[in-house]
Amino acid sequence: MNYRHAFHAGNFADVLKHLVLVRVLAHLQRKPAPFRAIDAFAGLGFYDLAGEEAGRTAEWQDGWGRLDEPFPAEIEALLEPYRAAVAAVRERHGESVYPGSPALIREALRPTDQGVFVELHPADAEVLRDRYNQDPRTKVLHLDGWTALNSLIPPPERRGLVLIDPPYEVPGEIERLGSRLARAVAKWPTGLFLAWYPIKDVAAVDRMVAGLDAALKRPALRLDLMIDRPDPTRLTSTGLVVVNPPWTLAEEAGLFLPALAERLARADYGAFRCEALGAPG
Ligand code: SAM
Repeated sequence: MNYRHAFHAGNFADVLKHLVLVRVLAHLQRKPAPFRAIDAFAGLGFYDLAGEEAGRTAEWQDGWGRLDEPFPAEIEALLEPYRAAVAAVRERHGESVYPGSPALIREALRPTDQGVFVELHPADAEVLRDRYNQDPRTKVLHLDGWTALNSLIPPPERRGLVLIDPPYEVPGEIERLGSRLARAVAKWPTGLFLAWYPIKDVAAVDRMVAGLDAALKRPALRLDLMIDRPDPTRLTSTGLVVVNPPWTLAEEAGLFLPALAERLARADYGAFRCEALGAPG
């Protein structure tokens, strides 16, 4: 297990993933019924952008670091909960911190909601435990995320989301994402699933998404962001499949994806994709 998210925290891929995560959490907050957010590959919870790892790659400067200038008002309205969550985490943990998914989830929990953070790396799981186990609403599990994905759903609340954000260190992880996601949706058809993927091997991602499109009996969205031309050797593009998306998300993504593609483009190339998959909603 060599992957360390501290080197990548706040990069363009985190911006897309975390913006969508916060929008989905805001949607869940609209009804009073409690929800559970399961983060199957949780990482450390939050990261210091002034720390050595973030400083070595400086990836955040081309992600979160490019969002300082405000966007037009209709885009800002969509970014507002994400910006507010980052500000709340900074208030709690320090001004140079960037939140990971557990910190963003924690900010969204009401007294009766639950967050479950799963992390397999022993040292990271220990850090997460220190950070989140005192809060009665959050629980840290030192477990394999793929096992957790199967065993923790459906949650007792029957309402909530699962974030699937593996490190893609081993070959075949894109294919595994597709098959495990389809299986998980079959087990919990009304759950909201967010599955993140890097786009290096474009054909492998397209095959995985086509498989999901055929297999899913539920509505889903493919949201991709390209900040440079596709390149098998470095991360220039990223995406998320969102199963059972909030009904407003496609329209929102039609606004924030082009804005992010333009703002985060590395040179003269920024692009996006927003496509419906699965059964119609
Ligand atoms: N979701 C986090 C966020 O948005 O802030 C980032 C997670 S990072 C991309 C992937 C994490 O999964 C790493 O912390 C890694 O140690 C952990 N990991 C790797 N293999 C795992 C497995 N089989 N089960 C659970 N966690 C795993």
